[in-house]
Amino acid sequence: MARLKVFNRSFHGLSRREHRGLINDLVILFIFIVVSFTLAVQFELFEAFFELSRAYEEWELDELFTLTMLLGAGLLLFSVRRIVELKREIRQRQQAEESAHQLARHDALTGLPNRRFLFEDFERRKGLSFGGGKACAVYLIDLDHFKAVNDVHGHGIGDQLLQAMAERLQGAIGADGLVARMGGDEFGILYEFDRGADCALRLARRLTTTLSRPVTVGGLSLELGASIGLAFCPGDGDTLHDLLRKADVAMYRAKEDDKGGFRVFETEMDDLLRERVELERDLREAIRAKQIVPHYQPLVDLSSGSTLGYEVLSRWRHPERGMVMPVTFIPIAEDTGMIAPLTYLILRQACADAKDWPERLFISVNLSPSQFLDPWLVEKLLQILTETGFPPRRLEVEITENALIQDMKKVKTVVGSLRNLGVRVALDDFGTGYSGLYHLRELDLDTVKIDRSFIRRMLSEPQHARIVEAILGLSKSLGLDATAEGIESGEVYDRLKELGCQVGQGYYLGMPVPADDVVRSGHTIDLAKNVA
Ligand code: C2E
Ligand code: MG
Ligand code: MG
Repeated sequence: MARLKVFNRSFHGLSRREHRGLINDLVILFIFIVVSFTLAVQFELFEAFFELSRAYEEWELDELFTLTMLLGAGLLLFSVRRIVELKREIRQRQQAEESAHQLARHDALTGLPNRRFLFEDFERRKGLSFGGGKACAVYLIDLDHFKAVNDVHGHGIGDQLLQAMAERLQGAIGADGLVARMGGDEFGILYEFDRGADCALRLARRLTTTLSRPVTVGGLSLELGASIGLAFCPGDGDTLHDLLRKADVAMYRAKEDDKGGFRVFETEMDDLLRERVELERDLREAIRAKQIVPHYQPLVDLSSGSTLGYEVLSRWRHPERGMVMPVTFIPIAEDTGMIAPLTYLILRQACADAKDWPERLFISVNLSPSQFLDPWLVEKLLQILTETGFPPRRLEVEITENALIQDMKKVKTVVGSLRNLGVRVALDDFGTGYSGLYHLRELDLDTVKIDRSFIRRMLSEPQHARIVEAILGLSKSLGLDATAEGIESGEVYDRLKELGCQVGQGYYLGMPVPADDVVRSGHTIDLAKNVA
């Protein structure tokens, strides 16, 4: 029996089922031959044939008969072989189709189901049970800081991290739901429940805890965490498309509120989303109609109190909403690729304004991290300087630490090219991101701008004062200028002066104002006014 099994499995590479099918086919063939033979005997066809061959011996019918029999046997053998081959081909095709089906529905890196699978599974579950009192929660999970880790430690570590997180999610859900990788560092979960929404919230809490535990990959212990958005079916929507969109909105709120948490979708979140869509549409028009204008905030020499230059800060003069601040529209411009035209619009306007100001004054323009990926960035800046006749030595660009973790090599090249043109480069909001001594040393910078969060609390919290002192010491030893952002009082001003900080900026020294006000001020600051 055992030997027969082996035979079954190995015979011409056919499976046991296929082999059984083959035997069936052969049995049918055999029955057909036996029936034909019986009918031939029954109707005395053979006697008739022999009589005929005897009567017409010269026709050599018996030889013809032998030949026909031989041909029949050959044909039979050929049919058997053909049947076997066909079966094998069908099986291989089925296997290929199965693996294509599998691949099309799974993520190659983590082995988890993919977006397509999730959609199919949702429809299947909906058809089976949503009507029968069961409900379903849709989770959208986005890993926090993943991009930074990927950029700093490389894609190999990033991939391992995704695999580890996928495993944790799978372990947390078990057989109660379906985890899928939606793409990048985003995962989606379908979770069915019938005991009230509490268990769905408990699961969200569990996922948050699980994902915030440190992961060890490639000898590194990394802490990521995740932001989770939740939407319920029925309630928030009937289609997975709608539910995922709402979970996405909730997830973004979770990210904004407090990284490493979760939020359940609420209708007012949708209103915010609608507002964002409106702003996005208006922003396109605003750039075209030049409604975004530069305001200027003085950068002051702390020892003499004289203005050295201005930081250029964008303001949107919205026809209905009034003045819209950068915190609202810069992220939209960054997400939608409008940041480049916006920057060039502001720079062109600022160069045109500042061209006629005293030669000693410079302007400092903010660049967004994504702009460093534009290979034409330096050429475009140069083109604007040439067109407006503004000397490069009077321009400073501010880059944030987030630009550095993207692609250090590219940033280094851009910084090098800008400095070759005579443009100065400042590192903005220093101390809040991922950069450190390595970046300060590697990049050929001119200035470090100490983030205002340290300056604001330096008098009340000794720890912040120590950080400010350390950054000042560090920049001095590297030959960099230091600018303190966010000086809001005379006490902070005096303390920074004592610590040897050269340049300052803040409401105490001057608010960001339009070009006309700058000109009216005669480029001097009025501290008495700000103290009052
Ligand atoms: P930033 O580059 O760090 O600019 C300084 C921000 O701090 C400005 O906010 C300024 O008004 C504010 N500020 C200055 N002094 C004080 C102070 O004493 N106290 C407090 N609390 N705040 C002070 P603003 O104009 O709202 O801009 C916010 C951020 O938006 C900027 O931060 C910059 O990162 C970005 N941004 C503004 N304009 C542009 C732009 O044209 N392009 C790009 N890419 N980013 C821009
Ligand atoms: Mg800045
Ligand atoms: Mg800043």
